Amino acid sequence: MVSYKELGLVNTKEMFKRAINGGYAIPAFNFNNMEQLQAIIKASSELKSPVILQVSKGARNYANPTLLRYMAQGAVAYAKELGCNHPEIVLHLDHGDSFELCKNCVDLGFSSVMIDGSSLPYDENVALTKKVVEYAHQYDVTVEGELGVLAGVEDEVASEVSHYTKPEEVIDFTTKTGVDSLAISIGTSHGAYKFKPEQCTRDPKTGRLVPPPLAFDVLDEIMKRLPGFPIVLHGSSSVPQEYVDIINKYGGKLPD
Ligand SMILES: [Zn+2]
Repeated sequence: MVSYKELGLVNTKEMFKRAINGGYAIPAFNFNNMEQLQAIIKASSELKSPVILQVSKGARNYANPTLLRYMAQGAVAYAKELGCNHPEIVLHLDHGDSFELCKNCVDLGFSSVMIDGSSLPYDENVALTKKVVEYAHQYDVTVEGELGVLAGVEDEVASEVSHYTKPEEVIDFTTKTGVDSLAISIGTSHGAYKFKPEQCTRDPKTGRLVPPPLAFDVLDEIMKRLPGFPIVLHGSSSVPQEYVDIINKYGGKLPD
């Protein structure tokens, strides 16, 4: 058993509180190798931003746990070298799909875990999430749950359609499970291809595809029911067209 505190990491509790009071969001980036980790720490240190380092289930299975732990410790030391005296770095499991995987990450030195039971029937999602919370909180590790289904692909978490979170469920879910943050679905999407052209409309002036709008009314309704509660948005809303141009210029083949 390794405590994340020994590695110099923090959980999400204080950073989320400050973000809500300060009216800003905190970025979470998945990393799969040293180069990505180095870029994330360099950028977050330059910006003096708290940061969440995410490991997917696939990355967790692939990575040697000892090496992963020292990479996290190395990230904290690197941030200090770059001038952050008290770096706020979270090591987080992204889309954990079982109690065993979440427990394993807590035991390895993760400071936060996500248990994604969103594809389960509601009551099973509540029971699984609650079980993870009960284990993780013993070690001061924070837990993210999910309600609603996101579109797109993230490792083995794949869904064809996006089902928005039902605002009428959020109070019951957060109360029963004791989660520290809640991932919701308002139309953001995972993966490199966010939306198919059929899902988009075309801007008559530029001929460019415009992605479907996000359901901000659902977000508003959830925030009204859970004032001050940390809300997590996965994926993103689109790939900016200027980046598609750059990708294609250097040999990419992203249509439209
Ligand atoms: Zn996700």
